[in-house]
Amino acid sequence: MQIRQFFDPQSSTYTYLLWDVKSGEAALIDSVKEQVDRDSQIIRELNLNLRYLLETHIHADHITGAGELRKRFNARVMVHKNSGSQCADQLLDDEDTIMLGSEKIKVLYTPGHTNTDISYLIDGIVFTGDTLLIRGSGRTDFQSGNAGEAYDSITGKLFTLPDSTVVYPGHDYEGRTMSTIWEEKKYNPRLGNGKSREEYINIMEGMDLPKPKMIEKAVPGNMECGLSKD
Ligand code: FE
Repeated sequence: MQIRQFFDPQSSTYTYLLWDVKSGEAALIDSVKEQVDRDSQIIRELNLNLRYLLETHIHADHITGAGELRKRFNARVMVHKNSGSQCADQLLDDEDTIMLGSEKIKVLYTPGHTNTDISYLIDGIVFTGDTLLIRGSGRTDFQSGNAGEAYDSITGKLFTLPDSTVVYPGHDYEGRTMSTIWEEKKYNPRLGNGKSREEYINIMEGMDLPKPKMIEKAVPGNMECGLSKD
């Protein structure tokens, strides 16, 4: 399996292109509307067969490029079933598997940042969306977020993966690109080192964050796979 990590400077979003070398089948995780030409170019240059446009959740901070990329590559848009998305080609559930050539992508439902969060597990690597960030975690104060659920997802599901599992997050605001389950279990200041559920909830509820600038546009836009006129 090969992976490319891309960055959208406006929203600090990571987009991931992964592909099975033998078959050339590819998936793109969390595309960004403003970056579809960049992503299209590399997919064409590498002669990949883009099969899936995977979302880790319904985002509030950027609009997905999935709808536009589906038009260009005839790939399937996939998002968690709780989104109720009408534009998706497939609504995913916990434990679903998606085949990428001979590689299996496993869907882990990891809610708490929203109620649509999916982590995608493939070949010793987990793409955690905004559920688990490097030395952080996605905010839980809007869009059906729930700090207790986030704690359960991270400690109960992600932290039970092998220590060596590579973590690729949905964002980073300090230039870090990847981590491992071991590192986050040990050093994540919010819930590493055995922090309790209560401590985590206190930390998350004590954060006084401004509302995301894009939320009014991004959430409805993403429910339409980024294809709304506005
Ligand atoms: Fe998010």
